[in-house]
Amino acid sequence: VTPVRSCLYCESAAGDLPQAVVYEDREVVAFLDWRQSAPGHVLVVPRRHMDADELFASETGAALLRAVRQVARAVRRALAPDGLQMGAIVYPAAGMRGSGLPHAAPLAGDDEEETAEDHHFHLHLLPRRSAGEVARIFPFGDAVEPAERLAELARRIRAALVAEALGGTD
Ligand SMILES: [Zn+2]
Repeated sequence: VTPVRSCLYCESAAGDLPQAVVYEDREVVAFLDWRQSAPGHVLVVPRRHMDADELFASETGAALLRAVRQVARAVRRALAPDGLQMGAIVYPAAGMRGSGLPHAAPLAGDDEEETAEDHHFHLHLLPRRSAGEVARIFPFGDAVEPAERLAELARRIRAALVAEALGGTD
């Protein structure tokens, strides 16, 4: 499969960008969003460039949801948020760039935004701290999270994934 040029998610799946990976298998990769809307904000992405239509019609959709379940359990174990929410764009609005917003790019001044016409599906897992409000995926204006902070969060989530896999109760 040829990665789509200038697709942030293809580059991520290929390991071409600095990122804090929390989970990966043959079809799916999950990593911390460079801009954390809350600590533990994770993107779950199919490795292959595909939109929601193609994803949901394929086995990769099932693989992605299995990954979501594992990562969600690990985030809950590692960070104990009050709740956890997921969000994704299914049909981007025409003409939209960067899912409507400049996406969490690790590099300053990047011009590698996705476009609606060429959408690479990605699902946000958002820890939340209060029951009242739906967490916003993009409360941005926020700076990119320091790499050390992302690495530390990722380390905790990966450790929790291992603990979940071992069936521990801690
Ligand atoms: Zn892509």
